[in-house]
Amino acid sequence: MNGKTVMACIDAAHASLREHADEIASLDQAIGDGDHIINLLRGMDALVAMRAQIEAEAFAPALKLAATKVLSTVGGSSGPLFFSMLTGMAKSSTDIGGVAGFARAFAAGVEAVGQRGKTGTGSKTMMDVLIPVAERFTALADSGASKQEVLETLPRVAEENMLATRDMLATKGRASFLGERSRGHIDPGARSSQLMIAAACARLVQDDA
Ligand code: ADP
Ligand code: MG
Repeated sequence: MNGKTVMACIDAAHASLREHADEIASLDQAIGDGDHIINLLRGMDALVAMRAQIEAEAFAPALKLAATKVLSTVGGSSGPLFFSMLTGMAKSSTDIGGVAGFARAFAAGVEAVGQRGKTGTGSKTMMDVLIPVAERFTALADSGASKQEVLETLPRVAEENMLATRDMLATKGRASFLGERSRGHIDPGARSSQLMIAAACARLVQDDA
């Protein structure tokens, strides 16, 4: 994993968000203020514009560079949360390498999001996707799963848990202002996180390393 891998994942996530932009906009119009996809695409465009810098770095500094850009461009609630995800991952020790190292980094990123957003699962946010994915990732790494197995399993875990946010009552963020009316809609941050995880996994499965 290095800056080139980070950028390849950003490109994959960017393409998937663009493809689903109208859907994510509708989800945030239903239970938020409609800006989630605009916020994310503004950040993605800024990251793409600094491609050469990100690609020249090692894994952790590439993530830190991307995090700083995300913080200054994304905005909303999700900007600082995605910043925490990337810096949390960057701070984690990456000297283990491989599946175990990446699982540890991902879990550290999710933990940082939890600290920033002060929530876990069940409040109808991106955490309802991020936490189960981090837990399964750690379990797979602990059981010695192959990279292939991990990259095929995590998108399924992300999708199941994204879909489960539909029936939840929102207790965090803007959607919580709707109370019971927040039920019946998938959380936009859960959907965007799931799409980015699926896109990154699909991209990484093509690499040999
Ligand atoms: P805003 O709600 O400020 O307009 P965005 O539209 O960019 O921000 O992001 C909304 C998403 O942020 C929600 O769909 C939800 O997934 C996520 N979110 C909101 N509050 C929290 C929180 N405290 N912890 C984790 N995720 C949150
Ligand atoms: Mg919003």
